[in-house]
Amino acid sequence: MNTIEKTDRYHFPTYKRFKVSFVKGEGVYLFDEEGKRYVDFLAGIAVCCLGHSHPRIKEAIADQAGKLMHISNLFYNPVQADLVEKLSLISFKGRVFLCNSGAEANEGAIKLARKYHSERGSQRWKILTFEKSFHGRTLATISATGQEKVKKGFYPMVDGFIHVPFGDLDAVEWVLEKDGAIAAILVEPLQGEGGINVPPHGFLEGLRELSNRFGVLLMLDEVQTGMGRTGKFFAYQHFGVEPDVMTLAKGLGGGFPIGAVLAKDQVAEVMGPGSHASTFGGNPLACRVALEVIKIIEEEDLLGRVKEMGDYTLGAFSKLRENYPKDILDVRGKGLLVGVEFSFDAGELVEYLLSSRMVTNAIGNVLRLTPPFYIEKDHIDILVEEVEGFLKERRFGKAP
Ligand code: PLP
Repeated sequence: MNTIEKTDRYHFPTYKRFKVSFVKGEGVYLFDEEGKRYVDFLAGIAVCCLGHSHPRIKEAIADQAGKLMHISNLFYNPVQADLVEKLSLISFKGRVFLCNSGAEANEGAIKLARKYHSERGSQRWKILTFEKSFHGRTLATISATGQEKVKKGFYPMVDGFIHVPFGDLDAVEWVLEKDGAIAAILVEPLQGEGGINVPPHGFLEGLRELSNRFGVLLMLDEVQTGMGRTGKFFAYQHFGVEPDVMTLAKGLGGGFPIGAVLAKDQVAEVMGPGSHASTFGGNPLACRVALEVIKIIEEEDLLGRVKEMGDYTLGAFSKLRENYPKDILDVRGKGLLVGVEFSFDAGELVEYLLSSRMVTNAIGNVLRLTPPFYIEKDHIDILVEEVEGFLKERRFGKAP
């Protein structure tokens, strides 16, 4: 059996995969089993922010693996200490809990919201979240997610998640007024899996004000938007408001699994010894990689680059849209988190691009682009050209 047959036979049939098997990556390129080169506009779904096989990441992994990979959280370790300090310094002053994935980080945040209020003797325990949101695949995080498709077959959900339309401050205020049991608002600053949805102006600021007024926690799921993806380390930094809690994963390890919950001191302090744990969470190997990712982003001014390339991508697709207004309905996003919405399902386009050796992804009728931060203008130009080629072919048929 070849790779594809073996995987399809022995892996859970949970994923619908493209029929390509990658064996190597270098910078913004991926190589398949036959050595064919592809441009990676997806970066493992907003994960490999520094591309593939970054020399400094390879070196950090090899060095740390040769020293110490895992010791458990029963002991101290300088690499973990440096990472939690660094994360606190680049975000808001507070504390960090380290784990292994986005869903695990959000589980931690949900538990934290309940414990925070329970310690205060308050009856608040429910979480307000948003339609079209995505927060993970564990039972609590699918309950938090505002998409029916992830819940099908897994009922009953965890109790206490209330969903309102993304961007609708009046709906949030209405729920907070009616339901005195809301403990926290959990929200993505820009929705990722929901189709790259940018909130209306003033939304995050409004959520901050409502959270303060009603005494609930503002918890930002920055699993997809965090670690520079939108052109700032964290998307909330575009809006001049700070959350009480923030979750991270994806880009934090640049391809190595690690997640984190960050919380303001007075919130984090309710999680005393024994209240929460994760065997692998914060192991020195993952921490060393995450530290190196942050250092590289800072030293190479990659945030500036994300902004520049993000603006270029948005501009290039907006220009294409002018010529294809019936096909391209919207171009949106921030930094290198870009969605191009079509008037048709984008699955066929993604297949077409893959056959032209470009890796992208579709969320329904939205083409999602989350490339490594090292993507160049030339790559984007070629992508736009290919998309135009597809649109022409769709309209006029294949050229002879
Ligand atoms: N939260 C957001 C906003 C995400 O985009 C994702 C994954 O796509 C998750 C949480 C879940 O992260 P993980 O797959 O690492 O559990």
